[in-house]
Amino acid sequence: MSLVPDPALFDKVVNLCKRRGFVFPSADIYGGFRSTYDYGPVGVLLLRNVKDAWWRSMVQLRHDVVGLDAAILSPPAIWEASGHLQNFADPLVDCRNCGERFRLDKLDDPDECPNCHAKGSFTEARQFNLMFKTYAGPVEGAGAEVYLRPETAQGMFVNFKNVLETSRKRPPFGIAQIGKSFRNEITPGNFVFRTREFEQMEMEYFVPPDDAPSWYEHWCNERMQWYRDLGIPADRLRLRAHDDDELSHYSVATSDVEFLFPWGWDELEGIANRTDFDLSQHAKASGESLDYFDQALGERYVPYVIEPAAGATRTAMAFVLAAYDEEEVSREGQGQGESRTVLRFHPRIAPYKVAVLPLSKKPELQVPATDVLAQLQPHFMCDYDETQAIGRRYRRQDELGTPYCVTVDFETPDDRAVTVRDRDTMAQDRVPIDGLLDHLGPKLT
Ligand code: ATP
Repeated sequence: MSLVPDPALFDKVVNLCKRRGFVFPSADIYGGFRSTYDYGPVGVLLLRNVKDAWWRSMVQLRHDVVGLDAAILSPPAIWEASGHLQNFADPLVDCRNCGERFRLDKLDDPDECPNCHAKGSFTEARQFNLMFKTYAGPVEGAGAEVYLRPETAQGMFVNFKNVLETSRKRPPFGIAQIGKSFRNEITPGNFVFRTREFEQMEMEYFVPPDDAPSWYEHWCNERMQWYRDLGIPADRLRLRAHDDDELSHYSVATSDVEFLFPWGWDELEGIANRTDFDLSQHAKASGESLDYFDQALGERYVPYVIEPAAGATRTAMAFVLAAYDEEEVSREGQGQGESRTVLRFHPRIAPYKVAVLPLSKKPELQVPATDVLAQLQPHFMCDYDETQAIGRRYRRQDELGTPYCVTVDFETPDDRAVTVRDRDTMAQDRVPIDGLLDHLGPKLT
């Protein structure tokens, strides 16, 4: 994989995502609904695997992090206290020539309109708040306003006391949440990279204030390792510390995990030292004390928070981009010297782990194939496909990134064995049906 941005890769991946059922434009039959996407039969598995892998590493494998699923609709009081009503805004400029609107800080040239190429045509920037406002109940108007959350984080802060009182956790400890967030982005785009509705995976880790810098380092390292462990090549990942003028209103230190997208380096996740800003603000606004008395230290303090905040949908896209490969292959099933497209997903990320492919639809093969499927399904997400030439079915599974194809052939009824084909090497092994689970299990966990 080349280390320069590759715009052609973007088109190929967007195309594959639609063709193979990963991602569809939303409201497709009505001509699409701008920059909104639906995850199809394969995409929903991919996205779920990304979220499961995050949850496994952040919650399941730790004793110091618990989960939460907070409401999306939220009262203005939360966003007033968090500073979002005032500060969660991007600088918006209008082009006086063509009327298009842009986010000033994302323009390559702040003096030239990317749409009509007019120079010096922008209005003064004004702050545009990104929160979606709506109304709860039958009466619209003052007092009925609610917001769709623009981040999941505030759910953890407003539940800090509830979790502290019920979970027997003490700082340092974390609260993790995965869920939808909504931002009225000025310029959504780059496929699912920036959308107005997206999913986040966030964890707020509450620590004694003096320990915040070392926990910040810890989480920067842990999070980089997570991406590498799941197969993102180390040279397409980097950690970039924010300059002081980039920091959000609540942060004293932030680093972004960046991935080399087809258009260049861009953010997958932000890791921030949010200090005691959020808990102090909510304590002040709600009148509830959100501090902690540390008996060992004999001290009362408001915990500092280290937050790794990742985008599930954006990260899923990065996994597809990183997995995408094309290669020339020699004869396999059919064709000679043809090229194949293969998504080399880590098995934990791959939508389907195994595809069961009987060589024929005849009952003599269909029956053992359904038996094999029934044996594997309780353990792995499986696909089953019995139409078309086997070579084409392999190519399809390569494009879905399925690590193993299990082929039931005309020998199977006699030798009670199947052929297991490896996605990456295309090597084929003959494996007894009774030993299939033991053969595949260790490779797929
Ligand atoms: P940006 O500067 O790109 O607007 P941000 O720094 O405001 O993003 P955070 O508030 O740190 O983003 O959100 C944490 C993560 O949530 C991001 O790293 C990204 O993966 C994801 N995310 C944020 N906004 C969007 C969006 N509009 N679409 C998809 N994912 C998003």
